[in-house]
Amino acid sequence: MRIEAISIFPEYFSPLSLSLIGKAQENGVLSFQAVDLREFTHDPHRTVDDTPYGGGAGMVMKPEPWGEAIDARLSQMDGVIDLIILTPAGRVFDQRYAEELSKSENIIFACGRYEGIDARVEQYYRDVESVRVHEISIGNYVLNGGEVAALAIIESIVRLIPGVIGNPESLSEESHNEIGEVEYPVYTKPAQWRGINVPEILTSGNHGAIARWRQEEAKRRSQR
Ligand code: SAM
Repeated sequence: MRIEAISIFPEYFSPLSLSLIGKAQENGVLSFQAVDLREFTHDPHRTVDDTPYGGGAGMVMKPEPWGEAIDARLSQMDGVIDLIILTPAGRVFDQRYAEELSKSENIIFACGRYEGIDARVEQYYRDVESVRVHEISIGNYVLNGGEVAALAIIESIVRLIPGVIGNPESLSEESHNEIGEVEYPVYTKPAQWRGINVPEILTSGNHGAIARWRQEEAKRRSQR
């Protein structure tokens, strides 16, 4: 999978060199590149924003640098490209959406700042063949920029690519699986900690009973 993120703060993406996502890059499962939007400006101040038409507070990101940056990245990619425009007004991201995007070959994230990106950028790329435009929100709250949202989405989709997580079984038992339940509570050693015991059933060695207990706990937690 190839992922690129266009942002005025490309340094925001340095944590992607760590842990399992870092390993996925080392193993060639993932190729990631952060792209500086300001490289696609042509004035001495490297301006990416301007005042909003119609008035109002704040600044809006200009369409020209976005158009140039996205075109430049698209020209380096083959096949279908998922262009993800991050916005609190988008479809709220969830595990089903993560599964869908984990099958993509090429993803470009457009990370907005200020009052967001001029709406014509989304409108323009909707009509470009080979580009699937997604407007995605990571939840009903407002961040300062799309970088943190992109990091969350990248982590959730890359871990679903076969081979990224050592034991694929841990994915099938996780929260927000196909049946929509959350996971049962998990415990490790010691058997007693600060006066609290691990549920006895887990140390019984009775695998059938443990599986049933876990199913019931998952149901109970999901309902709660
Ligand atoms: N004025 C915009 C609004 O009210 O919808 C908010 C703009 S926000 C301050 C700046 C940028 O942060 C957005 O363009 C988007 O890229 C990103 N952003 C903020 N909240 C987000 C969320 N919940 N999900 C995804 N991206 C978000």
